[in-house]
Amino acid sequence: LFDEVEQAEQYAGDWDGVRGLLGGKGGNLAEMVRIGVPVPPGFTVTTEACNTYLEANGIFPEGMWEQELEALKVVESRTGKVFGDAKRPLLVSCRSGAKFSMPGMMDTVLNIGLTDETALGMIALTGDERFVYDSYRRLIQMFGSVVVGISDEMFEEVIDAARKKERAESDAEISANGWKEVIREFKKIYRLKTGIDFPNDPYVQLKLATEAVFKSWNGKRAMDYRKAANISHDLGTAVSIVTMVFGNMGDDSATGVAMTRNGSTGEKHIEGDYLTNAQGEDVVAGIRMTKEISQLRTEMPAAYAEFEEVARNLEKHYREMQDVEFTIEKGKLWMLQTRDGKRTAQAAVRIAVDMADEGLISKEEAVLRVSPEQMDFFLHPQFDRRAKATARSNGDMLANGLNVSPGAACGVVALDADLAELWSKEGKDVIMVRPETKPDDVHGMLAAEGILTSRGGRTSHAALVARQFGKPAVVGVSALEIDMNKRQVQVRDKVIHEGDWLSVDGTNGDVFLGKLATIVPDIRDPWLIRLLSWADQFRKLGVWANADYPVDAQRALDYGAEGIGLCRSEHMFFEPGRLPHVQKMIMTDLPIERREALNAVLPFQREDFAGLFRVMDGRPVIIRLLDPPLHEFLPNHVDLRRELSDIKIRLQHADSLQKVDELLDQFKKKESLLKRADSLHEANPMLGMRGVRLGIIVPEITTMQVRAIFEAACLVAKEGVDVRPEVMIPLTTHVNELKIQRENLENEAKSVMDEKGVAIDYKFGTMIELPRAALTANEIAEYAEFFSFGTNDLTQTTYGISRDDAESGFLIDYIEKGVLPDNPFATIDRNGVGQLMEIGISKGREIRPDLECGICGEHGGDPASIALCHALGLSYVSCSPFRVPIARLAAAHAAL
Ligand code: ADP
Ligand code: MG
Ligand code: MG
Repeated sequence: LFDEVEQAEQYAGDWDGVRGLLGGKGGNLAEMVRIGVPVPPGFTVTTEACNTYLEANGIFPEGMWEQELEALKVVESRTGKVFGDAKRPLLVSCRSGAKFSMPGMMDTVLNIGLTDETALGMIALTGDERFVYDSYRRLIQMFGSVVVGISDEMFEEVIDAARKKERAESDAEISANGWKEVIREFKKIYRLKTGIDFPNDPYVQLKLATEAVFKSWNGKRAMDYRKAANISHDLGTAVSIVTMVFGNMGDDSATGVAMTRNGSTGEKHIEGDYLTNAQGEDVVAGIRMTKEISQLRTEMPAAYAEFEEVARNLEKHYREMQDVEFTIEKGKLWMLQTRDGKRTAQAAVRIAVDMADEGLISKEEAVLRVSPEQMDFFLHPQFDRRAKATARSNGDMLANGLNVSPGAACGVVALDADLAELWSKEGKDVIMVRPETKPDDVHGMLAAEGILTSRGGRTSHAALVARQFGKPAVVGVSALEIDMNKRQVQVRDKVIHEGDWLSVDGTNGDVFLGKLATIVPDIRDPWLIRLLSWADQFRKLGVWANADYPVDAQRALDYGAEGIGLCRSEHMFFEPGRLPHVQKMIMTDLPIERREALNAVLPFQREDFAGLFRVMDGRPVIIRLLDPPLHEFLPNHVDLRRELSDIKIRLQHADSLQKVDELLDQFKKKESLLKRADSLHEANPMLGMRGVRLGIIVPEITTMQVRAIFEAACLVAKEGVDVRPEVMIPLTTHVNELKIQRENLENEAKSVMDEKGVAIDYKFGTMIELPRAALTANEIAEYAEFFSFGTNDLTQTTYGISRDDAESGFLIDYIEKGVLPDNPFATIDRNGVGQLMEIGISKGREIRPDLECGICGEHGGDPASIALCHALGLSYVSCSPFRVPIARLAAAHAAL
């Protein structure tokens, strides 16, 4: 029973345990009673009972039903009503509720206890025939669809006909006689579909409804949802039996749902929808036009004032934004549910910061409340404003609806979930467009880039699900006329077919025809800035970024990076003006020619480095010397062969001597490129002539790069910039490699500094990306002032799995089959690669206690890997500029 929950006592303080046993709904109902919130009397059947029932293939655990009846007796005495009594009948709802909220995924049956006899009693009691028959038809309808699986559409057709017959605009206008007729039809349908009569015994109703709720735990949509939301399948659902209160008792009655703060933006005011003279699902079903909660203030001021106070108290008690369901019966407020509200990433950030400011939570809690994944959603792309303006002036703006889940999404229209899923599997971007969404649509919503509905409000199913999974969504776009028969959508005079492109702006609710350009989001949200500044106070790890060009470095800096952990110097080699020189350098065997070619590249490199130093003024910039095998700079030999045979054919058709000469010249050039490419060919290029090996065999490359770095450093230092270069050697496996490279570097650095008359403070270090380097880190540390773990290569070489092939091959099967728990290229493998890192760090710091250790692999932006880096005592993580805010937050989470 809600007000004497023994389990709650047993689990005193163990909120997780209470929710596990009573479900979120039951646990919170009990908790609300405990703190004095008006809740109708009721009790909860535990998840344990459900699990036992499911394990026993549909047999109630011993004594359960008797206990249910006993509890019902207590509810009878609390309410002064009697279950099944013809004079003062007690009606109840039978509600599902799991440990983690799964909105709408499982079943609930309302108005249990209504029979032909008790209906008459209710009428005598309330004097309201219309209300009673409306409730009765709802029972048959819900029971019919939930318990025995009759399609709801059959029932809705009957109601449609009744509406037409009475020329009623909405269900609320159907008369008592109308509903009576509907009930007769419903019972016929029930008999037709099941072969038996609708149970006129309230205890049979309760028993079957309890079972149906148990079973709904394993319903398809609940399973799909759990898979997507990563909820364990063995938790089971509880069943809460709650005394019915009636929002459909006339114009002083209402039912609604609300959030204590805005779930899209986080603004601090109650948001919600309600309906007068309605019951339960009417509000979320999107069938009737709902009213905004603010209207309730004028319509029922006393009830609204109480509601506001309850909302405030709930927030204070739970210290969280709440999502509540309520009913007002003849002016009296009843709370039917509360839970932590789902919200967008934007709202999560704002609510956490506001609640810390309000003193409800600490700054630490505020930081912990925003997950790194939410931070990721926060940074999702938005539409380019100019692209939107152009689309508008071209008349491509279709409509505007409710902006319930932010972000920009483009895709082709799919009008149902299965098609959305299918197309997405085929690699298409899809926008799922529906009149409204139901729990059965979740698989399509997950597959889609964005969601668009013509009905529903901020608390509709589509809105909740979209927000939870970070899918951009716009709902309630009434301008959309969706015709499922013709499979098309009409907006005024425009007809959109399945497969046409749409752009949906979940940030402000705009919907466009076509595919609009997107841009990177604005990081200057004041709440985000504050939250991240708190995160910075708590984290121990530094957060650096991988950036090759000044624009990337600038973005990294704007996002809060404290250094450049990896500049891949070879990226600059690929630029159009430079590649020919690089190729010449590779092609020639003459040292002079090679030096000439390198000298041509040098000014470019110098400029690039100078730009980075200027942006990163006062912060470290790690520049990695040339890493990839040289063949990557030459054209692919398959292409070369094809081009050669092309030229041969054209030679045969050449019509002038000049043409022949030209072609022959081309042929020779390509042929020698091919020869060189062939000679550079290695069976395992990733384990071949690359990284430091290249630097040792072709030392001129190292010399040129070092010169470029130090010329740039001197130049920029003279401008008054605080330059902190760190030169990094890739792919070291033996200390001797470093010894040689260091000597080369120091000589060249010194001569540049002498020439320029500037002294630059710099560091020399190495990547640790081969197991041998980690294992001999003490030797290596003698020559390296810093380590940077290249966890991509380190994972590849530790596992012996090629990172270039694995993720499209067997590794996927491995993960699906559970052979490996995670993709080691996404999250660092703690036991293997993590152990090597630990060895590397401890051996390195034995020799050099102040050794700077960081990580620059893809893992640097992965929250789970960041937690490991924190535990290992790394100095910093370095990740893509876009992931810097995520890393700042994840690093704080690791430290708290
Ligand atoms: P869900 O988990 O799908 O939200 P609920 O068990 O919360 O299902 O029930 C859905 C709706 O039914 C509620 O929002 C509420 O409006 C209505 N409802 C449930 N129990 C009662 C009750 N005892 N009295 C009145 N309305 C109820
Ligand atoms: Mg509910
Ligand atoms: Mg590497």
